Amino acid sequence: MIKIGIPRALLYYQYYPMWKTFFEELGAEVVVSPPTTQAMVASGSSRVVADTCLPVKAFCGHVLSLIEKCDYIFIPVIRSVKRKIYNCSKFLGLPDMTKAVIPESPPILDTEIDINRGKRELYQAIYQLGRRFTWNPFKVRQASIAAWQAHLNYHQLMSKHGLTPPQAIERISGTPEAEPKTNPINPTSIKATIAIIGHPYLLYDEHINHRLIYRLEQAHNKVLTPEMLTTEESESATTKLVSKAYWTYEGEVVGAGAHYLADRADGVIGVMAFGCGPDSLMMDTVHRRAVRLSTTPFMSLTLEEHTAEAGIVTRLEAFLDMIYRRKRKQIEVCV
Ligand code: SF4
Repeated sequence: MIKIGIPRALLYYQYYPMWKTFFEELGAEVVVSPPTTQAMVASGSSRVVADTCLPVKAFCGHVLSLIEKCDYIFIPVIRSVKRKIYNCSKFLGLPDMTKAVIPESPPILDTEIDINRGKRELYQAIYQLGRRFTWNPFKVRQASIAAWQAHLNYHQLMSKHGLTPPQAIERISGTPEAEPKTNPINPTSIKATIAIIGHPYLLYDEHINHRLIYRLEQAHNKVLTPEMLTTEESESATTKLVSKAYWTYEGEVVGAGAHYLADRADGVIGVMAFGCGPDSLMMDTVHRRAVRLSTTPFMSLTLEEHTAEAGIVTRLEAFLDMIYRRKRKQIEVCV
């Protein structure tokens, strides 16, 4: 059986159930790299120039960890999934960069997805990928339909049932994800509702973000994330703030930020990677919105390879203290 390696990094959190279903329907076995570790980040970093963003460094570490564990590595070029809205340039060059910096990598399956080229090109790209496993176009079509359905189910689990991507993947596959578990919070003991915004590869990679969600939940806060919004909620909030999105995953930052600043959260934390061009612009838009509204406190956390855990913890504690004080004051004013 052909083994397809999928790095547990970057777009894994957006598309893993869809990719897994597609390959398994075509008779392949899917192998996922283990959760990120310091050794993986260090090995990935050693292959790329210093100012590469942390998620890409981690991605290279994941590819290195899959060597000799699979026959192919799946690294698609996701150029655009919505008309005239494009992805960060790092995603566009990901397979080429990987080939250049990790020459010992297993052969790369580098399908290109660009919705702007029309449906015909999209179907052709999917068919070309499927042809590596079968010559039967109907089988490829069936696999694509099953994969799309898996993707819809995955997103529904998150937006309707309030699950994070690792929780939804765990629910679908039945295998535990890396996220450390906190006991379910008793609704009466919730101290505050905190929304965290940013790309899934920053919010759910607990090595990269120093277990941010776990820390918030341990401190008895309810955590909201961008995936808990429906596409409509996130798109409408993005449109209200910037009229038209430019970046593919703008909803995770601008849309979620605008939505949670206006509704449902006592505080919003923006998580971004050091040296990330798109995020520096998007997070600044959310920050300015927070200042203009002056209703919900906002804090941004910038992550890089050398970010100290103690620094994150201190900032988090200070931010939470401020929110709890604010909430107490509001209660005093009301009574
Ligand atoms: S959006 Fe930013 S963090 Fe993500 S891959 Fe591009 S540069 Fe890196």
